[in-house]
Amino acid sequence: MTRTCTGITRSGQKCPNTAIRGDFCFAHAPDLAAARKQGNRAGGHGKRTERRMLKRMPQDLQDTLSTLYRVLAAVECGEMEPARASAIAAVSRAIVGVYDAGLVESKLTELEAKIRERAA
Ligand SMILES: [Zn+2]
Repeated sequence: MTRTCTGITRSGQKCPNTAIRGDFCFAHAPDLAAARKQGNRAGGHGKRTERRMLKRMPQDLQDTLSTLYRVLAAVECGEMEPARASAIAAVSRAIVGVYDAGLVESKLTELEAKIRERAA
């Protein structure tokens, strides 16, 4: 069972992240402030890339991507076992696979409808 972080975001909302350290996520755990500072400096480029990608991504997959970035940060600073991260990555791939199948199915249905329209 996953727990949600009890931290408060910069915008004053309750943090939606999964708690990975006590009651806090990576971003809010008080004892990880030093690791975060180091990660933020190194990850400036990564954050911009993440924001750009999230904008282009369907809403359904944004949660999965956010989770993967959190997992990456947690593994990097030694807060998560690589084996657990691998399991999360595998489940994420499965989610993307199901999403892809759904996407192909709906495009196919769309195309079939167009073909029927033209034939009529
Ligand atoms: Zn948090």
